[in-house]
Amino acid sequence: MTLTGELLIGASRVPATAGVMKAFNPATGELIEPEFAFGGRAEVDRALHLADDAFDSYSHTGLAERAAFLDLIADKLEAAKDEIAARTALETGLPAAQFEGETVRAAGVFRKFATVVRQGRFLQTAIDPAQPDRLPTPRMDHRLQKVALGPVVIFGASNFPISYSVAGNDTASALAAGCPVVLKAHNAHPGASEIQGRIIQQAVAEAGLHEGVFSLVRGDGNEIGEALVDHPLVRAVTFTGSEGGGMALYRRAQKRPDPIPVFTEMTSVNPTFVLPGALAARGAEIGTGLVQRGMYNVGQACLKPAILFAVDGPGYAELRDAAVAEVEKVDARPMLTMGIHDTYTRNVQRMQDHGATRLGSGEAPVRAADGQSLLLEVTGEQILAEPALREEVFGPTLLLVRLTGTEQMLEVARAFRGQLSATMHAESTDRSVAEQLLPVLERRTGRIVFNAFSIPQEVSYASTHGGPFPATSDSRFTSVGMGAIERFVRPVTYQNFPDELLPQPLRETNELHLWRLVDGELTRD
Ligand code: NAP
Repeated sequence: MTLTGELLIGASRVPATAGVMKAFNPATGELIEPEFAFGGRAEVDRALHLADDAFDSYSHTGLAERAAFLDLIADKLEAAKDEIAARTALETGLPAAQFEGETVRAAGVFRKFATVVRQGRFLQTAIDPAQPDRLPTPRMDHRLQKVALGPVVIFGASNFPISYSVAGNDTASALAAGCPVVLKAHNAHPGASEIQGRIIQQAVAEAGLHEGVFSLVRGDGNEIGEALVDHPLVRAVTFTGSEGGGMALYRRAQKRPDPIPVFTEMTSVNPTFVLPGALAARGAEIGTGLVQRGMYNVGQACLKPAILFAVDGPGYAELRDAAVAEVEKVDARPMLTMGIHDTYTRNVQRMQDHGATRLGSGEAPVRAADGQSLLLEVTGEQILAEPALREEVFGPTLLLVRLTGTEQMLEVARAFRGQLSATMHAESTDRSVAEQLLPVLERRTGRIVFNAFSIPQEVSYASTHGGPFPATSDSRFTSVGMGAIERFVRPVTYQNFPDELLPQPLRETNELHLWRLVDGELTRD
């Protein structure tokens, strides 16, 4: 595919109206062709009017038709995996093989959502048949199903240019729910965004859907994001990025005349707790594993196990030495953007200013965008006294925390704000501490990992990628996994309706063979 750099508004490709940009190759420090268009409020308005025009027909597509559309996107993504990977590698400085895998996984997510749509469980259909003879008052027939919210705005993330970007979980789950999508492409990977966007645009056309089902816009600075959140036709927003950016958009949406949900995924350090039995039994193995997982994607992962807690006792020195040895093997690698690199450098300095000592480091930076891998250490007292030490450093830095005992471990666990995940390494001898730690973690996280690491993440029915603030702005939902669709639907009850006017999933014959709650009993009859 020849990149043109245009915006994708419905079926049209639209040239720049508000300037242009070029992609940046962080590995070479050079700008890459072609120029990519910036749009403004007029393009946002056009995309959202098209999305609104598409809503009625798209949200009423049959389940089989919508599932086939998602499968088509998956096929097209997979067929273009080499092209997507090559361009993404240029725009990130990371290996193409990583992005081939990410594209194949993203295609798999679209296929899983196609299955979710066919199964129709997300509709949560419930039927309470009429009881005309009920005393003292008869009951009318009540039937409930979930319906799509309306046009959704999705902010593509910087750090996973496919699976959290244009063809990512947010897009797959919104389209599965029946919501048209207007995607705000991240400027860190405009070419990768264009390829994915044109694939979805082609799939919309081939599936015979209204062109407004998908648009992709790009802009300079905050104006375009603000225009998207402000637009009266938007019904929900998703965002993955910084706490500052996420909360600015969240607050803006709450000030609209008609506030709308903004599902933000923002910040998490994914604390890892190594209980004394596990530390003594396999401290070195845990130290090595921590660095291997923590340095994935140059540490630019929301699930990076950033902070590890262990009691200064048997196994601590082994864990620390193994982690130091592993970090010293890490090459200098470029970070995604110069902005992210500069923030990383400032945050590492902040940690050191607050008393973190350097235990080990990877290769010194070779290029301007390189982020040096670091292993830092503080004591339990220090991290309890200084909240800044508990905050995310987005990039290849890990922090070990040396504790005085398991009481202090519980105390530091209680000091955390909301997290996407937390991890516990334990042996059977650790049972009593594990039982005390578990409710503390449950209250603060969306996923608790046992004797493993928070990376890699499974995208499945039982996945949660969410958690209390500031991990997200709404802990009731997940942004990854099949449950992500629930963000984009709302219940409607049809009371006393004739069968022929009901939506197909609620009709008496149940031709789609869906699982439905009929008078409180789950049945496919
Ligand atoms: P970001 O600065 O939060 O930006 C994310 C997206 O939101 C971009 O498209 C950005 O547009 C837009 N945006 C941000 N603030 C906005 C505002 N006030 N009004 C309108 N639009 C706004 O995130 P980033 O660019 O990905 O990286 C910056 C930092 O975010 C990183 O250093 C890291 O700390 C954090 N981050 C965290 C995670 C995580 O999962 N924990 C993931 C990615 C990033 P522009 O690009 O045009 O500004």
